[in-house]
Amino acid sequence: MSIFGIPSLSNNQQRMLKARVLQQICLSKVNTMTTATTITEIYGETLHECVACGDGKIRYWRQKNFHYTESAKQSEFHIYRCDNCGTGFLNQPPHAQWLQDIYEYSGQALTQAISLEKVLAREAVFPNCTVDAERMSRAANLFNWSGNRRGLDVGSGFGFYTQALRKIGYRTVSINPGKFENQVFKDLNGDDPLPVMFENYQASEPFGVVIMSQVLEHLLEPDRAIGKVSDLLAANGVFACAVPNYDSFLVKLLGTRENACLWIPEHVNYFTRKGLEALLERNGFRVVRAEQITRIPFDALSRRLGLKGRPAAIADALVKYLQIPFAGLMNFLGLGIYINLYAVKK
Ligand SMILES: [Zn+2]
Repeated sequence: MSIFGIPSLSNNQQRMLKARVLQQICLSKVNTMTTATTITEIYGETLHECVACGDGKIRYWRQKNFHYTESAKQSEFHIYRCDNCGTGFLNQPPHAQWLQDIYEYSGQALTQAISLEKVLAREAVFPNCTVDAERMSRAANLFNWSGNRRGLDVGSGFGFYTQALRKIGYRTVSINPGKFENQVFKDLNGDDPLPVMFENYQASEPFGVVIMSQVLEHLLEPDRAIGKVSDLLAANGVFACAVPNYDSFLVKLLGTRENACLWIPEHVNYFTRKGLEALLERNGFRVVRAEQITRIPFDALSRRLGLKGRPAAIADALVKYLQIPFAGLMNFLGLGIYINLYAVKK
């Protein structure tokens, strides 16, 4: 989700930028018809501090290349890591405008319509968003001592978080720029989210709960976003967020071949628990709960091995049941796939 808009480039910035304006013809894989797209590849400014804790001790970690289509040239991205909190981030990150272009044909912003039935069918096979939405809404409500029953769902996606907040009695505001997601949201919840960027959203009243699931890892300026969240909350209100874990066993195992946390360049930040906590604490929050979530799609193994029929069914059952103790252990060791964090505004 590109929550922040497109800053204009100053002359000075332009000189500093490693600016490569390529007129690339890219073939969109999403549509069967051939679409020609012009991409402007511009990197953003060089970062000198950690995006999470603000520490200046950062160093180069690894490179990851990205190519949005098979026909396009590769682009290089460099990942830096903070010595203090371990959080990673792209340095230089892509410029916001380039990121926006990438969203046009990556999975982040849907490039074509999807029906609510399809989304619900997917959830029935592999319960994911619905489970997370209910768990996070209930926990956020538990810690919300502000007396304020208004909830803000930033990056509302298909609308499961808004639905869950309403079920427990919240009046909600939902923000999401993606039009195809917003159609599913409407079919699910009966109303429209505000199709605005978080940066441009202005609230008339404060909120008791703000939820951001899978959003912070996309933001070029997470510190600025959290500052805004803090401004939007009532005193003793709760911020609930979910991000991929940079310390996950998948990243440790696969390195840069890992594509969930290190989905580059859509994800520009790779948080550790320590980094995320530091980011919140320096914006006036007290972290009240941090937990990890590990969930592996049941068909992950059978798909990888190309199994069909009975062998596939056996592999799916193995993944379904063996992952319960495995996920518990990974989460316990701090190696889980996602971090969930709840923080109260002081
Ligand atoms: Zn840091």
